[in-house]
Amino acid sequence: MRSIRVDRPAPYPPRVSAATKPFWEALREERLTTTRCLDCEDNTFPPKPICPNCFSSRLTWQPLSGRGTLYSYCRVWAGPEVFREELPYTVCVVDLDEGLRLGSRFLDTVEPEVGGRVTAVFVHYTDATLFFFEPEAARKNES
Ligand SMILES: [Zn+2]
Repeated sequence: MRSIRVDRPAPYPPRVSAATKPFWEALREERLTTTRCLDCEDNTFPPKPICPNCFSSRLTWQPLSGRGTLYSYCRVWAGPEVFREELPYTVCVVDLDEGLRLGSRFLDTVEPEVGGRVTAVFVHYTDATLFFFEPEAARKNES
């Protein structure tokens, strides 16, 4: 997975809690992770302090591939004030290869293709690291 640097603070920085701090620290190190239940073996996203499937609090951190399929997307032309500098932008729903469906941003380098293969991109703002998605093909064409 590749990364990009943005020379300004994130428009809406993450709200870090004790339970999610390891997730945000891993993102800064360019690793996508989530919580995995040690009792029922379910992965959940976003990371949670308690398993939503069996309510166990015996959780561990699980690395994720950051690869998946684009399930859906939406181009945002009129967004919240904090995202004004980023308009227009694209939000997306991705089905990760690990079976998790999650919402994120889509890098606007090419037109998104529903059903197409995507991979995560680490976006380092000056105050936080987030992750977006882009088509796998875009990554291959870069080198
Ligand atoms: Zn569980």
